[in-house]
Amino acid sequence: MTLTAILEDIADEFRDVSERGVVANYIPPLACVDPTKFGMAVVEADGQIHTVGDADEAFSIQSISKIFGLTLALDAIGDALWTRVRQEPSGSAFNSIVQLESEYGIPRNPFINAGALVVSDVLVSHYGVQEAQQKILDLVRPLTRDAKNIVIDRNVALQEKETGFRNAALVNYMRTYNNIENPIEKTLELYFHQCALTMSCHQLAEVGAYLMTGSWNPITGRQVTSTLHARTIMALMMMCGHYDASGSFAIRVGLPGKSGVGGGILAIAPGVASVAVWSPGLNEYGNSLLGTRALERLVQRTGWSVFNAY
Ligand code: GLU
Repeated sequence: MTLTAILEDIADEFRDVSERGVVANYIPPLACVDPTKFGMAVVEADGQIHTVGDADEAFSIQSISKIFGLTLALDAIGDALWTRVRQEPSGSAFNSIVQLESEYGIPRNPFINAGALVVSDVLVSHYGVQEAQQKILDLVRPLTRDAKNIVIDRNVALQEKETGFRNAALVNYMRTYNNIENPIEKTLELYFHQCALTMSCHQLAEVGAYLMTGSWNPITGRQVTSTLHARTIMALMMMCGHYDASGSFAIRVGLPGKSGVGGGILAIAPGVASVAVWSPGLNEYGNSLLGTRALERLVQRTGWSVFNAY
């Protein structure tokens, strides 16, 4: 069976499913997204692209963007990053504040909000707010053949800011431990704009391909980051990419993946494929319910789990 046929099978299976999870409702642009949307895209190592459903519709990638912020921060300051954020699973919700007290303001990993805020702070120190946003766009756009809808949605960023009290609390709290270097408004501004990055599954799967190749842009042949950074990011995706459901995602799917509350997931089969899926309804942990199930099906059919021994 071809990969396109497998994707069509998966989309067919989910077409009439009634239990689709709950769409994020903390800001109107996310709350009004049609919960029946479903798209999936796969980029294979040889460059073949397979898509199904709403794979060309742009959506808010939210925390998937933490991958790109992390790539830039590692390129900017290298291992010094690990003095400010750890590399360990958290077992806590995405916006949890509890561990910060016992761990002296050092977040457990760069994919929980506290850790991503430290990453944003690093980028603000290094580039400034505006240039850092441009750096994010300059990182992702050349990775797709058609980057025209890849934008930072200013309305989403504004609404994130207006409702982002918990993120403000996290930054303020870490500042008391001197783990935030910039005025909190600047660090938050970059974080909210990064979260507001918008693209389609098709584009996201292409963008993620630099992790699949171990750091190369398959279109231009240029190196995007170091191989060590790509490996580090994928290890963190495996351990921490789905918040307190990261363990079950690793078992069910067996691929490094990163979810966002917009309902997207990027998953990487190293050396084999880059996969993006979008279904806006979330499970109780804030990860796409059908997106997770779709990846589980894909891996069952293709044997792409990194834990496959045969
Ligand atoms: N903008 C969201 C927040 O910081 C992102 C969360 C997510 O996608 O997991 O609350």
